[in-house]
This record gives sequence, structure tokens and C-alpha cells, in this order.
Amino acid sequence: MLHLLAVLLIPALFLGGEPAPKKPVRPPKRRAVVFVCTGPYASTYHTQIDCPALKQCRHEVRVISLQRARIYRTPCMVCGR
Ligand SMILES: [Zn+2]
Repeated sequence: MLHLLAVLLIPALFLGGEPAPKKPVRPPKRRAVVFVCTGPYASTYHTQIDCPALKQCRHEVRVISLQRARIYRTPCMVCGR
């Protein structure tokens, strides 16, 4: 019985080290969305719907994902980061 225990323990001791790291815990992901003006000269995205710059938009305001906005827009000077 002791022998069996030793056989089982030896590989564990040999491997040593720390327990396998748990999967990284991600913070709950809020869907990051931003607001863009669809006007022909608009080149920024806004994080606030009530941004003064966005209010000057004479075209449609759309909600898109931040990920997508970053591809072809720059952050708004007023509300962006
Ligand atoms: Zn803005």
C-alpha cells in the first residue's frame, strides 16, 4: 500500500511547480459602443451621446462598436479618449 502511494506521489513531486494557472478571469465585458455622425466630413467617433460636437451633426447619428469605429475614425476631441 505504501509502495503504491509512493508511485503515485513521485510523479507529482517530480513535476513540482505550482498548480496550473486558472484561466484568466476577464472582467464582465460591456459592449463598447460609440456614436458617429454619418455626415460626409465626419471623421471622429463620440463616446457620449450628448457630446456638443455630435449635436452639431446634421446627418444621422449611428451607434457602432468601438472596435469598428477605431478602424476609420479618430476619437472626438471633446468627449473621446
Ligand atoms: Zn464627441
